[in-house]
Formats: sequence, C-alpha cells, structure tokens
Amino acid sequence: MRVVAVAVVLLGLGALGVVGAGSLAQAPPPPPPPPPVTTAPPPVATTPTATALAQPVAPAGPSRALGQPWHGKLVNGVELPEVSADWLTWDPVLKQIPNRPERRFGTAKLIATLRRVLAAFHAAHPELPQVLIGDLSRPHGGIFDMRYGGLGHASHQNGLDADVYYPRADHRLLAAYKPDLIDHALAQELLDRFVAAGAQYVFIGTRTGLRGPRKVVQVIAHHNDHMHVRIYPPRG
Ligand SMILES: [Zn+2]
Repeated sequence: MRVVAVAVVLLGLGALGVVGAGSLAQAPPPPPPPPPVTTAPPPVATTPTATALAQPVAPAGPSRALGQPWHGKLVNGVELPEVSADWLTWDPVLKQIPNRPERRFGTAKLIATLRRVLAAFHAAHPELPQVLIGDLSRPHGGIFDMRYGGLGHASHQNGLDADVYYPRADHRLLAAYKPDLIDHALAQELLDRFVAAGAQYVFIGTRTGLRGPRKVVQVIAHHNDHMHVRIYPPRG
C-alpha cells in the first residue's frame, strides 16, 4: 500500500510540473522532480491484537500429512496462533513464551483439535492460566531433530504431533520441569480430553502417574513435563 501511495504522489507531482511549465511562461521553472524511489519503504511494524492472533491463516488448500510422523512432510500447513484465551505457545529451546512461528505448524485438523480441546478445558477451569503448547511441526514438515535445538524430535514431521505441557500446581506459566510440579488431576483431565477427542496416541513420561487406554496412552522417555498428542491423519 505504501509503495502505491508513493507512486501516486510522484505521478501527481509530475503532472503538476508539466502543467506549470506549459501554461505559465513567466513562472519560474518548476523544482526538479524528487529522486526516483528505487527501494520499497521498510515494512510497517504491526502489533496484532490477541483476537487477530487467534485467527488461523487460511492455507492455500486442504492440509495434508504426507509420509509418517517420523519421516514425512506437511502440505498446506496451518500456523497455530502464538497466543489465545485458551493457550500460550512455549519455545522448548529458548524456554520462553511464545514459541517461534517456524515451530508451530500442523494440519488444519490438528489445529482444530487443539482449539476444541483447549477451549473446553478453559471453559471448565476459567480460573486457570492458559495451557502451554510446545512444538508442532515446521512450516512444511520434515526433519525436526536436534539441529533445531534441544533434544529435537524424532517425529513431529507431518503436522500430526503437538506437545502439550502439563498444568502446574502453582499455576506458573512455565513447563513443569519436575513431576512434583504437575497438577496431576488437571493433567489427567487434559489427557482424558485428548483421548476423547480421538487422539491416536498420547505419549506421557515415566514419572507422571497418568493413565489411559493402553492402546492410546503410552509411556516413553523425555515426556515428564509434557504430553505428546498425535492425531490420525485427515482423510482424503
Ligand atoms: Zn513431541
């Protein structure tokens, strides 16, 4: 928009200059035209509101999860907004809110599942702070290992995986670094809600004491501060 506006102004000045030179013979010569604009003006910094951030950016077409979570790609991924009334995103490498955009893309179905579950959880517990969501996938999926910081992920490659941090008993907006910090009742409820929402798997840590249907809820290493939710691929 700024480029167009500048161009219009330049055209206007040029037209005035021609008119002045032709119709007023005694008038002093018009001032030299301003130098041509050769570079675009810097982008205008915007500060979107939380409401705007909560709106998904529409992908070019339906999201697709190609390949496998541990060897795949994401087509037409959707960016999880960095904050909303129901969640905040957490950067597991820099250990801060929000997570970087290039770490929070998923299939539209994954984003919708997170929205639905976390909105319902927040509605049931309006007094609690938002739930922290960690890494999803990269914008086009693919390898997301330790080259991207921290321990990295063996999976998280095709937009079906999301790390969701256990609610803390002290309500602080940090990962629960030790199992003692987890509010186990709330964490169990959040897990149950993802299971009810149709998650294919929810991976939990060895020391969380959480439970669920054995086919879905599985105990693995490195999940004592977050649950890893994997959904089934979208159909089609
Ligand atoms: Zn994970």
